[in-house]
Amino acid sequence: MRNKSPELEIMTGDLIHSRKAGRKKRKCLACGANSLKAGRRYCSRECREHVLWVLSLSKGLLKVFNARYAAFSFNDEYVMLDVLPVWSKEISRFQYRRTSGKKPAEDLKSLVLKSAEEWYRIIDEKNSKSYASLFLLKKNHTTEIPAESIKPDRKIKPRFSKSEKEALKFLRLKIEELLSDGHVQKIRYSYKRLAKIYHPDVGGDEEKFKKLNEAHHQMLMWAENPQFTARKALVGTWSYDGSTNRWTPPL
Ligand SMILES: [Zn+2]
Repeated sequence: MRNKSPELEIMTGDLIHSRKAGRKKRKCLACGANSLKAGRRYCSRECREHVLWVLSLSKGLLKVFNARYAAFSFNDEYVMLDVLPVWSKEISRFQYRRTSGKKPAEDLKSLVLKSAEEWYRIIDEKNSKSYASLFLLKKNHTTEIPAESIKPDRKIKPRFSKSEKEALKFLRLKIEELLSDGHVQKIRYSYKRLAKIYHPDVGGDEEKFKKLNEAHHQMLMWAENPQFTARKALVGTWSYDGSTNRWTPPL
């Protein structure tokens, strides 16, 4: 019997967390709009593309600040860009008051452009890029936000191929049922339960019984050597990693 790995502990915790969160109404990750359709993370493709475009626009600014990590978040009042420079243990928070009727991405664009303008203005005065960067970081410096809060955790998710996902569905198993001890028994139990319905001897469908056997076999194989995907991200906040120069959506 395989011991429960630390990865599984983390994952189970995450799933419980996300299941609880799932009961709440989801908001569009880009604009915060309510009442999304089930399973959707954005209100529209345009909305997602818009925020991604503005976030990529922010990369120039993050480069001049030598950002190790950054985070973008918003509420009803502000959009916020938190920056943790490579050389610092403390965060600088750039914020911009929300404009009524505008999406957070629009206000983030204004924040980025305003900060960039200010940066160029200081360079004009002082003739030093590093001075300008340091000046802005100091001006927006805060000790109220712990640096740890914008360092993305390594979250681990189980990874299934397309046919494994179909097998899971066919066996009527939920992902979380495979994350605790006794998952092999759960696969077997599910198989036995469905075999009573699909077995040709009890008048079941031969084709479905064959599919059931295949699904059973496939999930047992998965359980022997489970695959996981590691993903760096923050809960409820867009995160930027300076080492890859990439923004990642919230978990
Ligand atoms: Zn949206």
